[in-house]
Amino acid sequence: ATKRAACLIGWPAAHSRSPLIHHYWLRQLGIEGGYSIEAVPPEGFAEFVLHLKSHGYIGANVTIPHKERALQLTEPDARARAVGAANTLYYDGEVLRSTNTDVEGFIGNLDASAPGWDRTAHALVLGAGGSSRAVVFGLLERGIGRIALANRSIERAQALRDLFGDRVVPIAWSDIPAALPGAGLLVNTTSLGMKGQPPLPIDLSALPADAVVADLVYVPLETDLLAAAKARGLRTADGLGMLLHQAVRGFDLWFGARPHVTAELRALVEADLLGHT
Ligand code: NDP
Repeated sequence: ATKRAACLIGWPAAHSRSPLIHHYWLRQLGIEGGYSIEAVPPEGFAEFVLHLKSHGYIGANVTIPHKERALQLTEPDARARAVGAANTLYYDGEVLRSTNTDVEGFIGNLDASAPGWDRTAHALVLGAGGSSRAVVFGLLERGIGRIALANRSIERAQALRDLFGDRVVPIAWSDIPAALPGAGLLVNTTSLGMKGQPPLPIDLSALPADAVVADLVYVPLETDLLAAAKARGLRTADGLGMLLHQAVRGFDLWFGARPHVTAELRALVEADLLGHT
């Protein structure tokens, strides 16, 4: 049998953890397959995607700057359409379909890190950028009661309310402290707290004692937000967990087996992150 292979398409070909993750699973599951990186400039993207098969691939991940364009060149599912970006491409017969795996990555990691998290709770989501759309869509899909959505520029939060409906309630950035006591789930989707960025100025002492705190930022591995949550005894879900969980669905779609996010895989990627940052 010919070796089946997927790739990551980006420009420039930035350092990515995806090859490490997929090679680990291929090895672990004894599947003969491959995963490589393809540096494709914007002007060559459409040609590359439309002839993905003849380039030798059964599917692909797509990253910056191609995620929005990928939506237009494929048959996107409801998640990719809702998020406004496709990051995973796969063939269904001759049809090239796409999805956005950040939704499953966020929810899958939350389920694994804080089993039984309260879906009836009110969530407080910080940030209304690209990743926030995946988080908001995933929470709504899971039946969350209400999402207070805080963004520095409130227009972007209002745009998500217009897109996703009235369960999303835009709030001003300065109203975050007032929203904390009612939040069963706090999610940071901003880049604040990331290495090289300003810190996220939030005092968690007002959160309920059974609240869960999630952060999408994964450099550093443990952000100040998650450290503060742990110090308060709150359950947490981190950005690396999301990164690993979002890779599960692509692997399953391409290679036909659902892989596991193991402690060994986490350690492998942690070591890689520490080595490159
Ligand atoms: P975007 O650029 O789309 O959005 C950035 C968000 O951060 C916006 O809401 C922006 O607010 C806010 N922000 C930036 N600077 C400030 C500031 N100084 N004060 C207040 N708010 C600020 O980024 P993404 O959504 O794509 O990514 C956000 C983070 O999530 C990144 O750290 C990224 O690495 C991480 N991420 C992690 C993933 C994972 O798998 N773990 C997946 C995807 C992303 P405004 O609209 O006002 O500019």
